[in-house]
Amino acid sequence: MPEELLYEGKAKKVFATDEEGVLVHRYKDDATAFNAQKRGSWKDKGRTNATMSATIFAYLEVHGVPTHFVEQVDDAAIKTKRLDMLPIEVIVRNVAAGSLARRLGYEEGTKLRAPIVELCYKDDELGDPMLNWYHFRELGVSDEDLEFCEELGLKVNEILTPFFDERGVTLVDFKIEIGRDAEGRLVLADEISPDTCRFWDKETGEKLDKDRFRRDMGGVEEAYAEMLRRVQEITQRGAVD
Ligand code: ADP
Ligand code: UDP
Repeated sequence: MPEELLYEGKAKKVFATDEEGVLVHRYKDDATAFNAQKRGSWKDKGRTNATMSATIFAYLEVHGVPTHFVEQVDDAAIKTKRLDMLPIEVIVRNVAAGSLARRLGYEEGTKLRAPIVELCYKDDELGDPMLNWYHFRELGVSDEDLEFCEELGLKVNEILTPFFDERGVTLVDFKIEIGRDAEGRLVLADEISPDTCRFWDKETGEKLDKDRFRRDMGGVEEAYAEMLRRVQEITQRGAVD
């Protein structure tokens, strides 16, 4: 039976499968930025983001983070649990960049005293605005879920900062999404890739993420390939420890 397309987003197509409660996320080579005002596409983006997400979800599971990840299906697709998504993008930052550098008037690259967590409302029409707990309560999100989001963001940061450091990469900031499974448990969802994280080479400061596309810097395909190579070194050593 052909898979049923449930949703086509900017970076992925999401399909239902024959298995109850299981989805396939097929990662596209397409890219958007600035709320889809800028569009592009490059070779192997889908393969890179699917494979990096699969590897990192498996690593996080081993380190006690529940995720939606089931298995990688092929180069550019992963199976996940079907979740009821919270309307929240959780952003965690270690170094000032992008919108935070602008908001605080910091030079990009300024190391933060402690990680900063931001909660944004996932709504393309509104441009994913940052909201506080009062706003989210108004939207019907519980304090318990908001606390879970912040704590999970910080936990993922604690696990992934050394993971990337070992690969010669500074984890500058990242975005995660969270959803509720059939048992009512909140778990990490969506993707973790150069689309959703800022990665800077530890030695040279070179950007190895989607900012190369956002800022027309060139070398975006090579940067994604380099990040996948560094992340896969861990698996190739069998060191998902
Ligand atoms: P966007 O909607 O931002 O354009 P994508 O192209 O990445 O994003 O589409 C993937 C969609 O699937 C997103 O809306 C994301 O919130 C949602 N999603 C991610 N993981 C799950 C999951 N396990 N169950 C249901 N929906 C999910
Ligand atoms: N991010 C994302 N999706 C969004 C907004 C942000 O994945 O809709 C990620 C982005 O890649 C970066 C971090 O969240 O790693 C912080 O992004 P920022 O707020 O600085 O956004 P920008 O200024 O780049 O739009």
